Amino acid sequence: DDGGPLLTVRDLTVRYGGVLAVDSLSLAVPPGRIVGLIGPNGAGKTTAIDAISGFARATGSVALGDQDVSTLRPHERVRAGLGRTFQAIELYEDLSVRENVSVGLTAGASRRQAGSSRSEEVAATLTLLRLTAVADRPAGELSQGQRQLVSIARALVGRPRVLLLDEPAGGLDTVESHWLGQRLRDIRAAGVTILMVEHDMSLVLSLCDEIHVLNFGKVIAHGTPAEIRSHPAVAEAYLGST
Ligand code: ATP
Repeated sequence: DDGGPLLTVRDLTVRYGGVLAVDSLSLAVPPGRIVGLIGPNGAGKTTAIDAISGFARATGSVALGDQDVSTLRPHERVRAGLGRTFQAIELYEDLSVRENVSVGLTAGASRRQAGSSRSEEVAATLTLLRLTAVADRPAGELSQGQRQLVSIARALVGRPRVLLLDEPAGGLDTVESHWLGQRLRDIRAAGVTILMVEHDMSLVLSLCDEIHVLNFGKVIAHGTPAEIRSHPAVAEAYLGST
């Protein structure tokens, strides 16, 4: 790549019946950054992630580096380097953390390093997310914070270039949310670019390099955490929705 954005979304539009869930969304995610997507309930954040990952039918374009992935199916976008998590975490409760993470290495989905075995890839991912101590525990025994990290590990083990996270701090307490933030910084330091939807404003403001604010499917503000914190349209969108 040429130093341009790693993920480029142009004029992305999703209609559900008469509802414009995402309305001409354009955004660019530079490599090595954590970019936040925030906004009131129903603003279209999850739909935007669904459209970028290929789960929702959309018009407009999505490019990963210089590869246009707009026409690819979800699993093909994973193979191209676009990983994601879901708001509702689904783990195999009776399987171990290690086995749950291995699921992310299904044939074709993985971009793993040549010469590195599957078990080495899983072990490296568990180390990065500090899950090694619970690697052999059944997923059903984990805390919500640990479950979230396992779902992220499963998306990360295939070595995505961009990781799309849908509300990673959902259902987490403040201690777990802080811990999650540290792990997301570690992931960024490991060279993975992140676009995340998140409601926890203290996490978003402390973690993200840039933030886009959605309201009624449109970007109403874009800037650094400091700029977003003092943006009048942002306060209005949030106050107007409560
Ligand atoms: P939240 O913060 O509550 O998760 P959100 O910003 O993620 O909200 P979306 O879930 O993307 O918002 O919803 C955007 C709009 O699209 C809403 O009006 C919602 O009702 C509508 N919508 C979302 N999914 C569907 C669907 N599958 N069918 C019909 N309408 C939908």
